[in-house]
Amino acid sequence: MTNELITSSASELAARLAAGEISSVEVTQAHLERTAQVDPAIHAYLHVDAEGALAAARAVDARRAAGDQLSVLAGVPIAVKDVMTATGMPTTCGSKILQGWVPPYESTVVTRIKAAGMPILGKTNMDEFAMGSSTEHSAYGPTRNPWDLERIPGGSGGGSSSVLASFQAPLATGTDTGGSIRQPAAVTGTVGTKPTYGGVSRYGLVALASSLDQAGPCGRTVLDTALLHEVMAGHDPMDSTSINAPVPAVVEAARRADVSGMRIGIVRELTGSGFQAGVQQRFDEAVQHLRDAGAEVVEVSCPSFTYALAAYYLILPSEASSNLAKFDAMRFGLRVLPEGIGDPSAEQVMAATRDAGFGDEVKRRIILGTYALSSGYYDAYYGSAQKVRRLIADDFAAAFERADVLVSPTAPTTAFRFGDKLDDPMAMYLNDIATIPANLAGVPGMSLPSGLAPEDGLPVGFQILAPAMQDQRLYAVGAALEARLLHAWGAPLLACAPTLNAIGQEA
Ligand code: GLN
Repeated sequence: MTNELITSSASELAARLAAGEISSVEVTQAHLERTAQVDPAIHAYLHVDAEGALAAARAVDARRAAGDQLSVLAGVPIAVKDVMTATGMPTTCGSKILQGWVPPYESTVVTRIKAAGMPILGKTNMDEFAMGSSTEHSAYGPTRNPWDLERIPGGSGGGSSSVLASFQAPLATGTDTGGSIRQPAAVTGTVGTKPTYGGVSRYGLVALASSLDQAGPCGRTVLDTALLHEVMAGHDPMDSTSINAPVPAVVEAARRADVSGMRIGIVRELTGSGFQAGVQQRFDEAVQHLRDAGAEVVEVSCPSFTYALAAYYLILPSEASSNLAKFDAMRFGLRVLPEGIGDPSAEQVMAATRDAGFGDEVKRRIILGTYALSSGYYDAYYGSAQKVRRLIADDFAAAFERADVLVSPTAPTTAFRFGDKLDDPMAMYLNDIATIPANLAGVPGMSLPSGLAPEDGLPVGFQILAPAMQDQRLYAVGAALEARLLHAWGAPLLACAPTLNAIGQEA
C-alpha cells in the first residue's frame, strides 16, 4: 500500500516534523518498509542500515521533544551514494576491490548530513568507481529504472535516482564527474544538481577524477534539492579545493522561483541533431514556458563543446589511473593470492588482486589514462586535452556575457534498454555529451524533468547551467519551470509512472 509519508516531498515532511504532526521514526520506518517491498525488484541499495537509521531517527525525535534548535531537514531520511565514506557502514564504490571495506574515517558530506539530524537509510548502487551512465558497470549488478524495469536508471548514480523515483527515500546524494547526478535525474524524472566545483567538500569521497568530481544533492522537487544543497555545501578545511565563500542562497531562489528579466541562452551545439525527437520537443516547450514566465531567450554558440567529450576521455582516465593506483591489495579491501605461485611477491599479489577486483570499464580507463600520461605521449594527449579544457571555459565565459544561464536537454535520449550500449563504450560515453562541459569548466548545473517523450512515454531531462558560484540561478530557473509544468500536467510527473504504481501494488 502506498503510504503518504513516502510520497510526500522532503519539504512537506520537514514542515510536518517541525509541527510535531509526525515523528522521524514513523517517516524512517515507512521508507524502510517501502524498501523491503520494492527493492528486491529495483536493486537501488547496496546496503540498507535499518538499525542505524532508526537509532538516528529516535535521537532526533528526542532532541525535538527536548526543545532543541534543529536544522530544517532534521528527521528527514536520506540515501547516500556508495562513493561517500560513512563510519559504521561499508563503502564499496560499486567495486569488488572494496568489498567489505568499512572506512575508518567519514566524508564531510556524510558528517554534515548526520549533524543535520537526517537518518541515513543506506548506500546506493552505482557504476564501479562512478564510471558509466547506466549502473551496468556495478560489480553488484545493475539498478532498474522504476519507469520500466527493463531500462537503465542512468549512471553512475542510478541507485540514488531510483530510490527517489521509487519512493524509497525523499532525498539522496550523488557525485557528478561528467554527468552522474544530472543524467540519472533526467532518465528517472527526478531532480539533481552538480554544484560549482569546490562548492561541496570532496573530503572522504572515493576519488574518480579529482579536478572534475563534485558531490551534490538529488531530490524529487527543486526546493527539496535546494534544502539538501544547503546542508551539504560550504567551506571545508579538509578539502584544499573547497571554496571559502558563503554558500549561494539556493533555498531562497527556489522559493522565489522568479525568472522575470533573466536572460536564458540556448546552447546551439547542445540541441538539434543527435537528440531524440521527443527530447527536443519537450525541451522546446520548456523554453517556451520560461519565456511565458518573463525570461528573455537568446541563442548562444559554444564551438569548443564539440571537443568536450574527447578531452574528458583523456583527462578523466589520466586522473583515474593515478587515483586508482592506491588499490593495491595492501591498504584496502580485497586481497587475492595468485594461483600456482608458492611465495608470491607484493607485485604478484597486487596484479592478481587488481585483475580480479576491477571490472572491464575500470581496466579500460586505467590503460587509457596510463597511456595518455606516458612520457612520449603526455603533450600530445593529456596536454592537448588541457588546452581544449581552457577553450571550453572561455566559451562559457563568452556565453555568460550574453546570458544569465544556459540551457539544453540533459541527455540525448530517454532511458535506454539494458545491454543496448554495454558492449560499445563510445555509445555509452555519448550519453554525457551535454553534461561534460560543465565539469570541465567547474560551473554548476541542474537537471529537472520536462515531461515524457511522446514516442516512449519516458522522462526527459532539462539542463540549466550557471556561472561559478551562481548556483542560486539554477534554482530560480528550475523552480519557475517546475511550477509552470506542474500547472500544465496537473500532477507531479512521478505520479504518472506506470511501473512504479504496479511495483507498489504487487508488493
Ligand atoms: N558517465 C560519465 C563517465 O562514465 C560520468 C561519470 C560521473 O559523472 N561520475 O565518466
